Amino acid sequence: MTPAAENEIVLNLFKECDALLQGHFKLTSGKHSEWYFEKIRLIEKPAALEKIVDLLAAKIRREVPDFEYVVSPAYGAIAIGFLAALKLGKKFAFTSRAVIVEDILTTGGSIQEVLACLREHQVAVAGIYVLVDRSAGSVPIEGKSVGSLLALKVEAFEPDVCPFCAKGLSITKPGASDKKG
Ligand SMILES: [Zn+2]
Repeated sequence: MTPAAENEIVLNLFKECDALLQGHFKLTSGKHSEWYFEKIRLIEKPAALEKIVDLLAAKIRREVPDFEYVVSPAYGAIAIGFLAALKLGKKFAFTSRAVIVEDILTTGGSIQEVLACLREHQVAVAGIYVLVDRSAGSVPIEGKSVGSLLALKVEAFEPDVCPFCAKGLSITKPGASDKKG
C-alpha cells in the first residue's frame, strides 16, 4: 500500500469513529484550530479502532523485528497498546525490550514519561509508534524517530490572527460540551 493510500484509509477510519472533527476549536493551549482529535471516540467504536490498530501492528511488524513488550501511556492509549500487543503476539507491560504505542502525538509529554519509566527499569526501547502524529515529525523524542499511521500537521492560530474567527465562525471548546458521538 502506498503511504497516500494508507493515509486515506486511516483518515476515513478516524472519521468513522468521529475521532477527527473539522470545525473551529479552541485548544487547551488557547490557540484555535480547524481540526480536533477526540481521542476518547477511538475506544467507543472497537471495530473501527481494531482496523486502525491492524494497520499500526502491520507497520510495527515490518519495521521492528525484535521486541518483547508493547508499553503505552495511561490511560487513553492502554486499550490501543493492548490491542496492538494482542495482534503482534507480544506481552503488554515492561521488560528488557519494548515498543511504545501511543494514540496521538502532540507535545510528546506522555511518551517522555514512559521513556523515563522504562529507563528506570533498564528497558531498551525498540521503537515508538503513534496512530496520529499531530506534529508531523516536528517533535523529536530523545533523538528517536516516531512511526505514525498518519502524520498531520495541524495548524493552530493565536485568536487575534485566527482565520476562522475572522470569518465569524462560532468556536467549540472540546470537552466543554457533550457533543454527539
Ligand atoms: Zn478562531
